Parts: sequence; C-alpha cells; structure tokens
Amino acid sequence: MIAEVLIEYNTKNIDKTFSYLIPSFLEKELKKGMKVKVPFGKKLVNGFVVDIKPKPTDIAYELKEIKKIEDKFLVLDDEMLCLADYLSKMTLCSRIAAIQTMLPSNLKVKDKKYNLEKYDTYVTLNISKDKVREYILNNKRSVKQKEILTSLLKEEKILKKDLGSSGKSLLEKGLIKEVKEQKYRIVYTGEKKEVHTLTEAQSKAYEEIKKYLNTYETILLYGVTGSGKTEIYMTLMQEVIKNKKKALLLVPEITLTTQIVKRFYEVFGREVAIFHSSLSLGEKQDEYERILKGEVSIVIGTRSAVFTPIKDLGIIIIDEEHSENFKQETMPRYHTLDMAKFRAQYNNCPLLLGSATPSLETMARAQKGVYKLVTLDKRVGSSLLPEVTLVDMAMEMRKRNPYISSLLQTKIYDRLSKNEQIILLLNRRGFSTIVTCQNCGYTYKCPNCDISLTYHKSSNSLRCHYCGASIIKSDECPACHEKSLNFLGLGTEKLETELKRMFPIARIIRMDVDTTTLKGSHERIINDFKEGKYDILLGTQMISKGLDFPKVTLVGVINADTSLNIPDFRSSERTFALLTQAAGRSGRSSTLGEVIIQTFNPDNFTLECVRKQDYNKFYNYEMQIRKKLSYPPYYYLVSIRISSKDYDKASREALKVKNFLSRNLEDKTIILGPTTASLFRVNNIYRFQIILKYQYDKKLDNTLRELDKRYVGDKDVYLEIDNNPLHI
Ligand code: ADP
Ligand code: ZN
Repeated sequence: MIAEVLIEYNTKNIDKTFSYLIPSFLEKELKKGMKVKVPFGKKLVNGFVVDIKPKPTDIAYELKEIKKIEDKFLVLDDEMLCLADYLSKMTLCSRIAAIQTMLPSNLKVKDKKYNLEKYDTYVTLNISKDKVREYILNNKRSVKQKEILTSLLKEEKILKKDLGSSGKSLLEKGLIKEVKEQKYRIVYTGEKKEVHTLTEAQSKAYEEIKKYLNTYETILLYGVTGSGKTEIYMTLMQEVIKNKKKALLLVPEITLTTQIVKRFYEVFGREVAIFHSSLSLGEKQDEYERILKGEVSIVIGTRSAVFTPIKDLGIIIIDEEHSENFKQETMPRYHTLDMAKFRAQYNNCPLLLGSATPSLETMARAQKGVYKLVTLDKRVGSSLLPEVTLVDMAMEMRKRNPYISSLLQTKIYDRLSKNEQIILLLNRRGFSTIVTCQNCGYTYKCPNCDISLTYHKSSNSLRCHYCGASIIKSDECPACHEKSLNFLGLGTEKLETELKRMFPIARIIRMDVDTTTLKGSHERIINDFKEGKYDILLGTQMISKGLDFPKVTLVGVINADTSLNIPDFRSSERTFALLTQAAGRSGRSSTLGEVIIQTFNPDNFTLECVRKQDYNKFYNYEMQIRKKLSYPPYYYLVSIRISSKDYDKASREALKVKNFLSRNLEDKTIILGPTTASLFRVNNIYRFQIILKYQYDKKLDNTLRELDKRYVGDKDVYLEIDNNPLHI
C-alpha cells in the first residue's frame, strides 16, 4: 500500500501530495489523517497522510518509505480533512497551511508530542520599553529580532523555544529574560445551577429553532439586548445532549464573555471544554485532548474553536454573529461563519446565529428566506430598552464643555448620588490622539507609517498604534523649537484625568488595551465593577460587548463620531452595532436605563436609528445605499493588496495585476483601482489595493489562484488576497 502525504515544508510553494510506501511494520497502525515523518530531498520532514491506497503497478520511479508515525493520538478525521480542503479553497492557502491553521500550536511543534512539564517558559522584556523602542529604531540588521521585540512590546507571549537563533542572542545580550509560568489547568468547582425556566417569548423562539435540530439549516436569532438569548442556547444544548449529540458555541472574545462561560459551567459542569488563544499551552492541550477523546459535549471558544475536533455535532451556535472578531485578519483570512456552515452541513445540524444587531449580510439572507428568522423583540422580565438622547456637541463647545456635556454631567451626578453605576464609552485610547505645534503647524507622525502618533501620558511617549514605534515627547516642537505643543483629540487616558477632576468623589476604572495587558486583568476589572468597587467604568469598545451589570443605569458615549468618520462603507453599520450594544448595557434590571450619545452630527441618520433603537429602519436605509453603490450584500467583494518596500515597484506591479484581472475576469465584474490603501504606508511598506465587486463570475476562482501563484516566491512584492474583506 502507499500513502499520499501533505508535506510540512515551505508551505506556500508546495500544494500537492507525495506518494510514500507504507513499510510493513506500519501497515496495521497507519491511518488516514495521521502525522508522519517522511524523507523529503535530503531532509526528514513532517507530513499528514491524506489518503491510503493500493500501490499503482505502473510507477516508473522508486518510492521512498514513511519513516515513522509522529503522533498516534492525533488523527485528523474525514471531517477535519474535508474542512482543511474547504479552508484552502476559500482563502487560497495551501492545504498543509490549512491544516496548520486548524491545529493548536502545541501539536504542531516538531518532535514534541505532549509537553507535560509543569511550567511553560516564556520570554519578556528585561529593559524598559523605551530602551527597547530605541534599540529597534537603531538596529537595522535583524528583522527577526525586531519582530520579537515588537511582539513583546505589545505584550504578546513568546515561548522560549520558539525564539530561534536571533532571538536567543537577544537573551544573551540581556534585552529579554526568561519567565516561567505555572500551567494553570482549568478546573471548575462552582456550584451547579439550572437553566432558568424560559419565558413565554423565549419558549416560542426555542420551539421554533428546535424544529430544525437534525437538519442543516442556518437560523438567525435576532433578539434585542437582554432578551435572554443565552438561556435559549443552553436549553437547545440540553436537547442536543439528550439526543447523544454535541454542541459548539463560538463567541467573539472569551476574556469579555467570562460571565457567559461561567453560566455554562454552572449548568453543564465538566461537559464543557473551553478553547481560545489566551489559554496557556498546557490548558489548550488538556482541552484539546478532552475534545479529541470525546469526553465533552460542549465546546465554547473563539474563532479558532471552529476547528476543534468535536464529533457528532447536533448544533453550532455563533453568538454576537455581527462581531468582526470572527474574521481572521492574517493569512489565511477565513471567516468563522463559512467554516461553521461547512461543519453544520457535514454534520447535518443547524447553525444558529445570534445577535441584537445582525450584520447586513445575515439579515438580508434571513429576509430572503435563505436563513430562517426567529425574533425576540422584548427584554426578559420587566426591564425595558433604555431611553437614548443625542447631545449636539457643537453647542456644548460654545458652552466650553469640550468633553462632557452639561446633560451628561447632570446625569452622572444623579447616578452617583443614587449609588447606581455608569459606563462611559470612548473608542480611542491614549491621552491625546494628535499632537501639533501651534506655532509652525508641525504634527508628530510615525516615522514608519502614514499616521499621526498618539500621546500616552503615563509613559510620556508618543506611540504608533500600528507598528509600535515610540518617541519620547520633548517640551518643545522638534521643528521650530518653540514651547507651543498642543494636545488635540481625546483619548481614554485624558478622559480619565478629566473625569477625576470633574467628579472627585467618583471611583473610576479604565478598561482599554493599555490597562488590560496582563492575563486575567479583564476579569478583574469586570468583577470589581460588578461588585460595586467602582462607580464609573470608562473604556474603549471592549466595554460594549455582552456584559451584564444590573446596577448600570446610565451609559454615555463620549464621541459617537470617531467610528462614524472612518472612510469605509461599513462604518455606519459598525457605528450602529457599537452604539446599540453599548446602549444595551444600560438598565438591564428593573430600573429604566438611560443612554446619552454625544456627537457633532446630531442629524446623522444612523444616530437617529440608534436613538430610536430601530434596527429595521437602519437596515432598510442602509440596504438602499448598498444597492446604489454596489456593495455587499448586493455584491461580493475581493480585496487584493499589492505591497512593497519599493514604492515604484508596488505601483508598477499593482497596474500589472489590474491588467491581468481585466484580461481574465468576466466583463460584468467591476474592477476598482489600483489605489493607495487607506493606510498607505505601514512599517515602511507601501500598499496599493484593487477591489473586485462581483455577483457571479465563473472565472474568478481560477484567476485569483493563478494570480496568487505568480507572486508566491516573490521577495520584493507581496500580494494578499482577501475574500469578503471586512475593511477596504
Ligand atoms: P442577551 O444575550 O439576549 O443580551 P442574556 O442572555 O444576557 O441576554 O439575558 C439577560 C438577563 O436576563 C440575564 O441576566 C439572564 O440571566 C436573565 N434571564 C434570561 N432568561 C431568563 C429567564 N427565563 N428567567 C429569568 N431570568 C432570565
Ligand atoms: Zn508606525
């Protein structure tokens, strides 16, 4: 017999299988889906067996033999192998790259099956961040070192064993140091609780969805914030488990949904496995093993959990379906929804999408009957949707209230006096988002990127939120040397200072990327706030999602225009979702909640819909615009990015790409560009982009594959294709 093997080597260039002889001592043991070691050229490499078949009689050359089985435990079953093919087809990545994306990192590590040590050894910075930034700016040689340091600056975790030789030299130089972190294994010890008895509205929705168990169907559960979607998910899962099947629940972000996860643990206990990227390797391994062995009935996780090998699925649920976290923004750029659909179809089970603000694509499909639509239009119990008021900030500026309008001030005082809680949303971190000189007009910009730097007061530095570059702020303007720097643009850090000045008695806590770098810090902030240790929670969009704080009766949106003004066709949709979700945090118990939205565009249609909490009105209006401009859901998009360190080369190749597309695609497909990408220069790389709009083009797949191949080995020009991009 012979085995067809996908090789783990130079993954983008080779996308075909190689045949190997199965030696007699492996004949019995070797199965399709196993990881094996095979000779390739002069090397021994890893690979996955994707097929086993009789040896053809007409092979002219001699086949090499499989050396050994790498891992008897890990076997990709038929579903996983098909899913890998599908992922590769959707995103144009190679099949082996697809498999690597699907497997958790510790199972990919060469020659090491299961690391059972008690500690993971990571590296962290050993010198101050500013010194590191200086080192990065001055050290032009090692790209790899720069990468490592930049990741560490962003507080990303790097395992010591993944450092490579240039990383090791950073250790020797003392720029970074080792830290051991004890593997904390997930053990649930909480008390057991029952699912709430469903209300009448919930029961009705539940019964409707239940009809589709045992069929492949996509169902949208459109339920306003606080309508009790979670309890419906749990009741459905109980039914699925009763039928000896399993459930997969995908959530946008685990750190922010610990409350939901806790609820599932209470009801289902050890039946639940959780899976997401901020687990330690040991935790991941534990959970993956439990899933693989079939020990759990429910997997809850973020987008990568869609690839966990849970068998016999009876339902897949995507909560907060509209969330952009479900799209992976690095290669391979897959959307969780596509992967989930594939698995639901494979398992012949329903896919349930839940949201209070469904994406336009999803709602359009539900309206057309492609998806089934189930609606919950009231909150659970007696609580009503909050009342929303828009405040015109242009008027407030005249009254010299640049940050907090007089109305919002009054409301904050009122809540503080009643001992109720307040959430304030400002979708920009840092202190000041633009620093300019009043004398000469100089503006601090990133030396590597096409963007202004944000001032962070706590470190007295100006930072680029794209590449991590950082400059120490001086007292005088670097251009004209006058002491006339002006700090414009409001960030969360400055707002916190202002709030402390305005409300000295209030206990205020800030939650944004800068205050949540440590593991567990999200949970700590959320729990402290929930327990009433603070009066005001202030933060970026991370505070708008899925949180349930019964004592919050006021939500303030400091500047609704930040997201509205981003030049992207989805900015209205994003703003509507963000503000509606934020508003949904208010008044979740018996006290009526209030929401104050501050804006310079009080007449804006999207904001008007938010004020009325009218999703349908927003949907109908926005759909007309999309239709007029040929955008999704009426057209599909593909974004093609051509980038290079060399401006001329990037621009030349972009034109070539366009000509290639015009020659090869159908005439009815719209080709836009090349234009400079919305962030033209990032990390000193120039980026051009071409957008395709199409409804149906039978030549598209092949043309894109062909195009991708042309640039595979190119060291100077990168080509990236994004199918259904979220941002253009
Ligand atoms: P959603 O996800 O739709 O925003 P949640 O599932 O968070 O809503 O539910 C809102 C609140 O209502 C939660 O505090 C939840 O515990 C409570 N709740 C949901 N269903 C019921 C029910 N049937 N009986 C009592 N309380 C419920
Ligand atoms: Zn930058």
